[in-house]
Amino acid sequence: MPVPRWCPPQEPTRQEDFLLRRLTRTRKLFGFLRLHRHELFDEAFQTELEAMYRDTGAGKDPLPPAQLAMAVLLQGYVGASDAEAVELTIVDLRWQMVLGCLGTTEPAFSQGALHDFRHRLIRHDMDRRLLERTVELARQTKGFDWKKLPKTLRVAIDSAPLEGAGRVEDTFNLLGHAARQVVACIAAMLDWTVDRVCAEAGIPVLLESSVKRGLDVEWSDPEQKAEALQSLVAQLDALRRWVESHLPEQMKEPPLQQTLETLERIVAQDLEPTPGGGGGGSSVRIRKGVAPDRRISIEDPQMRHGRKSKSRRFNGYKRHIAADLDTDLILATAITPANQPEAEATPDLRSDIARQRLTIGELYIDRGYIKSLLVEQVLGTGNEVICKPWVPRNKGGELFTKADFRLNLRDLTITCPANEVQSFRLGGTVEFDATRCDHCPLRAQCTKRPLGHGRQVKIAEDERLQQRLRKQITTKKGRARLRQRVRIEHRLAHIVQRQGRRARYLGMRPNLFDLRRAATLQNLETIHRKMAA
Ligand code: SF4
Repeated sequence: MPVPRWCPPQEPTRQEDFLLRRLTRTRKLFGFLRLHRHELFDEAFQTELEAMYRDTGAGKDPLPPAQLAMAVLLQGYVGASDAEAVELTIVDLRWQMVLGCLGTTEPAFSQGALHDFRHRLIRHDMDRRLLERTVELARQTKGFDWKKLPKTLRVAIDSAPLEGAGRVEDTFNLLGHAARQVVACIAAMLDWTVDRVCAEAGIPVLLESSVKRGLDVEWSDPEQKAEALQSLVAQLDALRRWVESHLPEQMKEPPLQQTLETLERIVAQDLEPTPGGGGGGSSVRIRKGVAPDRRISIEDPQMRHGRKSKSRRFNGYKRHIAADLDTDLILATAITPANQPEAEATPDLRSDIARQRLTIGELYIDRGYIKSLLVEQVLGTGNEVICKPWVPRNKGGELFTKADFRLNLRDLTITCPANEVQSFRLGGTVEFDATRCDHCPLRAQCTKRPLGHGRQVKIAEDERLQQRLRKQITTKKGRARLRQRVRIEHRLAHIVQRQGRRARYLGMRPNLFDLRRAATLQNLETIHRKMAA
């Protein structure tokens, strides 16, 4: 069945004119989308969207992909669920006008069609193209004076936390949740009830609604808690043995294999042997400290613990955006687990920008992104990186800081305030001659190390860059350039306001889709604002 093309009329009808006049104060993007839908979804872009269907045919609902893509945007604009979006196509004249079905009494599409279309967009990476399309649309409009803009881009990158949508659980609940998934999988495979599996496999703790209820101890008592853990672990072992003896082949295949792997992973990351056997039969305990890359949710396996600052923790992801400072358009987005350093997002951001054949002339970042390949590449092509430098500090603040030492990066030498010279290597630690330091009149201001030990200074791997950045902030112009990063902070604040603090979906890829959609809407609002100015 051929994929239908969306060809709604361009000229507004009298009823649409009336609605457009009503949309000048609130929800103005409905009006913009109605008037510019044929430009956003032009013939070439509709052909690209239709190509998504070539592998499987048109599917159950032969609806124009461009119309569904518009519905996906409207859904993001008003923050509606799939079910609500379907209803809004019947009860909201603004939806009907934008989707080209004004006056209809039937839904424009089914909930299933919208769900399937979103997954199709994700599978074909067309959410990325939707965002790129807004940058292309901006180039076609008269809202931006492109001739006056720099030839290469001034791109800024920033990130914000995104709380994951999955439930974060403690060790007992994580183990119970993972075991419940194994039991549910077995029940489905054997066509048994969950209760029967629990009884036969020797894991009665799962017969209760929660694992803590099933263990039923005084949780504030460490001894009772330790005993409860041994009891739970013994039942998990019984479940594992039962699977090995009753389902030896099935346990090597999905889906049972995956559920067992999840359970094994939670056991390995959260439990450790009790030192010295623990006495009293307690062979394992909850691990001290957090395991690297610890899984924190069964529902969303990609969520991680992260930190915004030393005191502020969050669970889930980081959302990153890269925007052009001259047009305010968002060019690329990325999602990373919350425990990953910011620099991990830059390969995706860079490849999305490069795909649009755009070149970064100036890169505005915060220190989290400084150790990234993108920075190396921008500097390597003779372009500039604008970033706040690390401020040299010393304990207590009363001793000389690194800034009081003169670094010669050509000869790789460092000169102290008493004019002692020492050579260094990048990424190492310099120690001044102990005898000189012991007899130095400036020693009290320089080091608190015991006699016989010279002052130490750490030299960063990227010391050359850091020196360059420190030089930048010594001039008025340099400080003014640094302040321009505030624009990306505003862009990001709008994205956070649009998306909310909590993720809409489970998993990184669906949340990348949601971020790209939010960025697409933001770009459309930017274009609208510039055109109206
Ligand atoms: S204590 Fe050592 S490093 Fe510090 S100023 Fe004196 S000689 Fe230089």
